[in-house]
Amino acid sequence: MTSVLVINDALKDRDWIGALAKLFDGAQVHAYETGAQGIAHFKEHGADCIFLDDRLASEDSLSVLAFLTATSAFAKVVLLCDERDEALATTALKAGAMGYVAKSEITEEMVLRLIGEAIAEAEQDRASLKTGTNRYHLLLVHDTEDNRASILEFIEQGLDGATVKSVATGIEAMDAFGAGQWDCVILDHRLDVEDGLDTLARLKDISPFTPVIMLTGQDNEEIAAKSIKFGATDYLIKQRLNTTILRSVIETAISRCAFEAKVAEQEAQHRQFLRSLVHDLRAPMRNLRLIGEMAIEEAEEGQIDEMMSLLASQGLMAGQATDLIGTLDNYSLLNDRVVLKPVDLNTAAEAATANLATEIAERKAEVTIADLPRAHGHLPWLTQLFQNLISNGLKYNQQDVPRVVVETNMGEHSDGSLIVVVKDNGIGIPVKYLQLIFEPLKRLWGREIYEGSGLGLASCKKIVEQHSGQIWCMSKEGEGSAFYVSFPHPTIGR
Ligand code: ADP
Repeated sequence: MTSVLVINDALKDRDWIGALAKLFDGAQVHAYETGAQGIAHFKEHGADCIFLDDRLASEDSLSVLAFLTATSAFAKVVLLCDERDEALATTALKAGAMGYVAKSEITEEMVLRLIGEAIAEAEQDRASLKTGTNRYHLLLVHDTEDNRASILEFIEQGLDGATVKSVATGIEAMDAFGAGQWDCVILDHRLDVEDGLDTLARLKDISPFTPVIMLTGQDNEEIAAKSIKFGATDYLIKQRLNTTILRSVIETAISRCAFEAKVAEQEAQHRQFLRSLVHDLRAPMRNLRLIGEMAIEEAEEGQIDEMMSLLASQGLMAGQATDLIGTLDNYSLLNDRVVLKPVDLNTAAEAATANLATEIAERKAEVTIADLPRAHGHLPWLTQLFQNLISNGLKYNQQDVPRVVVETNMGEHSDGSLIVVVKDNGIGIPVKYLQLIFEPLKRLWGREIYEGSGLGLASCKKIVEQHSGQIWCMSKEGEGSAFYVSFPHPTIGR
């Protein structure tokens, strides 16, 4: 069923656009007052078309637009504005909007047309990205026409909607391989001109996670084993080929390679994390050694005061390295399994504020916590979540009076998922870094400017994921940031 999302802070406009959208073949309309609620809905349920108000009271509409289009290539957003504004229209289209409409020009026909266009565009996108199940893009390499024809027939019968390019030689295969994106390659082991195994090795060199299935003859078990050694994902014996076997082998190979690619990506992330960690630990260790050497020199020259001051800074630096190790330890503990129970979010936010009392007093900051509901969670982790977010709101802040507000954003049309927002009036974050900041050990500033481990937001992300929720940020440089946390089960235990 068609689903339409309306994000508008005026109830009148939500109802009006919603009513027109419902005329589209019984479309389901979800209307929200804030961008945060709309985003949370979209992340969880998606939508075929999104009507977004250009002047939301609570957020910058262009940031909401940018966020939606960054979240999914299939976010088809139409920006609704009070009056025509060509500059805004251009910015909106550049930010990925599908269209831009002045409210005064909206008609029933236009809304229906826009929804239709959104669906058609998304379908086109999907077709070109081949995301539909079974719509595989296959490369078949075999030097005899008869064999190609019979395999094509099996594919046609077994894999609905698959597209196949068939070529006869290894050279043609390499050309086709480089020119397209392939879900799977079916490769004969004995090609006329080149050896199939050579072609296999070259294909795997270019793209190690594209599955390659080797076609072998009945008495070629040895070749089959060799193919697997050379990197083939599986093999098919020509004489035993039928629709069912072919489909099953192709689908298994595709899902296995996708899994292997995911594991490899996780390993790469892990390696990157270790590299950053080594870098972050090496610098203080080197400094500790240097300061130690300098202190020895001062001692040898009888400069006791200088030596004492060097030793004091050495102690400070050792303390910082120990803090980093403590933070890391804490971060790794966030992988543990814990039992989630009904938790009063006020208790978590208030405990976090109490833990930050010294910082709040030193910065003469104002931290306001609205009346928060209950959620299904783990109190110590939720306390840490609030503590990290509030502490960042104070730290990355140059205002005379840093202000952090913790509030909940449940609107009248909410689908039941709870969103908590932690907003500050700090320095803000450039849009291009809004995803990066949640990666471990990523900092936008040197330690000499803003102290920190770079694990604060990565920990928040882990905690939120442990609660099956989502975390994201919207921000404007120089004006402040807002961190949104969604909890899917807010009312359990109320
Ligand atoms: P740290 O633990 O070093 O403070 P985080 O992981 O918490 O690091 O944050 C990563 C980066 O995101 C920080 O280096 C900072 O540049 C940016 N950041 C996080 N929170 C805020 C905020 N409230 N305002 C501005 N920038 C922020």
